Amino acid sequence: MSQHVDVLQMARDQLALAATHLNLDAGLHEVLAQPKRQLIVHFPVVMDDGTVQCFEGYRVQHNTSRGPTKGGIRYHHDVDVHETTALSMWMTWKCAVANLPYGGAKGSVKVNTKLLSKRELEKLTRRYATEINIVIGERGDIPAPDIGTNPQTMAWIMDTISMQAGYTMPGVVTGKPIEMGGSQGRVEATGRGVVVSAVEACKKLGMSMNGAKVVVQGFGNVGSVAAMLAEREGAIVVGISDARGGIYNEKGLPVSELYHKYSGMDGGILNYKDAQQVSNDDLLELPCDILMPCAIAAQITKENAPNIRAKLVVEGANGPTTPDADVILSDKGILVVPDILANAGGVIVSYFEWVQDLQNFFWEEDEVNLKLDRHMRNSFAQVWDTRERFKTDMRMAAMIIGVKRVADATVMRGIFP
Ligand code: NAD
Repeated sequence: MSQHVDVLQMARDQLALAATHLNLDAGLHEVLAQPKRQLIVHFPVVMDDGTVQCFEGYRVQHNTSRGPTKGGIRYHHDVDVHETTALSMWMTWKCAVANLPYGGAKGSVKVNTKLLSKRELEKLTRRYATEINIVIGERGDIPAPDIGTNPQTMAWIMDTISMQAGYTMPGVVTGKPIEMGGSQGRVEATGRGVVVSAVEACKKLGMSMNGAKVVVQGFGNVGSVAAMLAEREGAIVVGISDARGGIYNEKGLPVSELYHKYSGMDGGILNYKDAQQVSNDDLLELPCDILMPCAIAAQITKENAPNIRAKLVVEGANGPTTPDADVILSDKGILVVPDILANAGGVIVSYFEWVQDLQNFFWEEDEVNLKLDRHMRNSFAQVWDTRERFKTDMRMAAMIIGVKRVADATVMRGIFP
């Protein structure tokens, strides 16, 4: 069984547990366990040397009971329709936990972006956008960046869809550059939300962020911002990694310097000398107060969970902890702030961006950050209360809130026709 099938099974196991807590009707459970729509596309791209390569991509929409679907587009050589479906389900619950008027979706293209020139990447993006144009749209399904994509990718998608519509349609994607309808604060939003979650969790645990030792796995959009903002809260970031490996210094790492000077180099942060080099496996087991997995799925497993030494795990990535590992962490008394709560900052500010685009009226960065902060804190408080009420962990509490909101909307709307 591939890891991807496991990720979908993981999402379905979580749903099944929430359904038991909620005593959910069996038919409704079955509806929520399936995606509403899965589009698989194969499309050609003429490469710089004149050869033609065929790529496979997906767009999966999980549920539309609460509104249009929303979710990132991932470019990675190791994606498939099962993983994309799992990610779309998590988006549904995440939007519902944050009380946004959206359902979940996810898109992906099986590609190693490092092997493509910028021009090839642009052509691939424009052709993929054209292929999925039959299911996306500013009122129907609004993509955003994820692993391997960024504001430039969103700009190409927005331009492609606008060219085909005959008018500029900024609301069709979020995470765009500011110059063309992006929102202030969107780039930092996910990492910012991760740190707000960490601060709130510290309060509940009677810990302080000030002086807390933090380890961050992944130094991309989410991990780098989370590390920088954690440092701003007074935390000491002692370990950081990217796909090439990690570095550790118990006295602390200079996060901003690592990001601005080292991350763009060949070899990246591993070029930094005043630290010990560690593997990604070792990084997760380093002594620290807070562990922030901000890279890819299934990183904390039943094999390494017994060795995790953090008191608090805040999930920046989607699905970084397997269900077996969840049980082990819980038995060890480690608090896990789950992905669908901790990394919701990105979709919250994406929602703000969409609202601004539809109104053609843009907000100052302070206003965005203030509203994001408030949204994150409210969601955290609701999940914490549900955790106490149902005597369960934070992940299940968030799932209970998310699944209940989606199930209620589905029942209220009724089944068509
Ligand atoms: P990114 O591509 O900007 O960065 C990913 C980082 O992870 C890179 O530093 C990469 O080197 C590293 N990485 C990849 N494989 C790794 C491995 N095996 N071990 C350690 N590091 C590894 O992506 P991102 O946007 O920062 O997304 C990171 C995670 O956060 C993903 O799971 C994504 O789904 C999730 N997420 C992102 C957003 C967002 O707004 N960008 C929102 C919610 C959730």
